[in-house]
Amino acid sequence: MAADVSSTPRKVLLLGATGSIGRQTLDVIAQHPQDFILTGISAGHDQKGLEQILKAFPSVKSVGLSALNEDTEIEGLRWYGGQDQMARLAKEADYDLMVNAVVGFRGLKPTLAAIEQGKDLALANKESLVCGGELVLQALKNSPTHLTPIDSEHSAIFQCLQGNDAEDVARLIITASGGSLRDLSRDQLAGITPAQALKHPSWNMGARITIDSSTMVNKGFEVIEAHYLFNLPYEKIETVLHPQSIVHSMVEYKDHAIIAQLGSADMRLPIQYALYAPRRPVLKEDKPLDMTKSLDLNFKAMDFERFPMLKTAIETGKRKGNAGCIFNAADEQAVEMFLKGEIGYLQIEEAIQKALETIDYIADPSYEDLEMTDHKTRQWVWDAFHQ
Ligand code: MG
Repeated sequence: MAADVSSTPRKVLLLGATGSIGRQTLDVIAQHPQDFILTGISAGHDQKGLEQILKAFPSVKSVGLSALNEDTEIEGLRWYGGQDQMARLAKEADYDLMVNAVVGFRGLKPTLAAIEQGKDLALANKESLVCGGELVLQALKNSPTHLTPIDSEHSAIFQCLQGNDAEDVARLIITASGGSLRDLSRDQLAGITPAQALKHPSWNMGARITIDSSTMVNKGFEVIEAHYLFNLPYEKIETVLHPQSIVHSMVEYKDHAIIAQLGSADMRLPIQYALYAPRRPVLKEDKPLDMTKSLDLNFKAMDFERFPMLKTAIETGKRKGNAGCIFNAADEQAVEMFLKGEIGYLQIEEAIQKALETIDYIADPSYEDLEMTDHKTRQWVWDAFHQ
């Protein structure tokens, strides 16, 4: 049978391949070899992890590893090294679709490079939009790139928008589990250790995002992400506490119908949907949600006093400019220091607040301005809080 264009597997470049989202993306791709072929991967330092992936996916031709000093070519495999490896992969590798599963500010540059190349982009890197939302929107205007979200809340909203008119949306309702420390009062937070904060009740995720969930910084980032992905003002984006993490988010329309997406806490569904939307082929999951078992679904108004970072994030989003970049850099630096036991839990919030008051605001930053802001903010947090 002659193959038509749509039956040709799409070539995928996966950035952040050895991380939590990266590994689950590999599983989704492995489940659909007729539709996707992995041609490029990258990681920061985990060379061993990359070599395991190369064994499992011999189709890979380009590999990026930040820890590598220089580019090399070994047995037909092109290795990219250095801090710029991801952006260079995005420009030079052979692919149709980038999955950006990088954590942190460094995910922004390859996002912009993929859009400039006109490649499709499945985005798990929140910081691309939190730090560079305006630049990303600008780049998308001149590009055929289709951008699909991987974050579970945004995937849910994306799914709930299908078949409806964007004009009829009244508001987005983003659900929040409340994170690992949700049952503690603010007074109880001071002595929290990294081990306590790293126990997320429903999702199994990387270290930084688990801490960010407990401070609600992650939810704040998601509000900013939603603003850019769905082109809605902050007033139309709400958050509610939903400890079970079963309703992944909702859209309320002007007729007050609320459409929700439900599922188990398994990132492979949003990853697969970002690759296939609007199609929904079979996905092998460990524990799909069973609606015949009794389900407790609770929703509660967000507590902005208990989680002040959410309010700070929304104000930061509204300020635009390099404010999101300052917020993110302070958080990245402070979380890293907290995980090493160098600062207390509540100092994460303090570092963010003070960095936002201290670091110079730039109204219309270029990518280079953001890079400088990122660097300056991290340095400032380190100097101000390191004992
Ligand atoms: Mg999320």
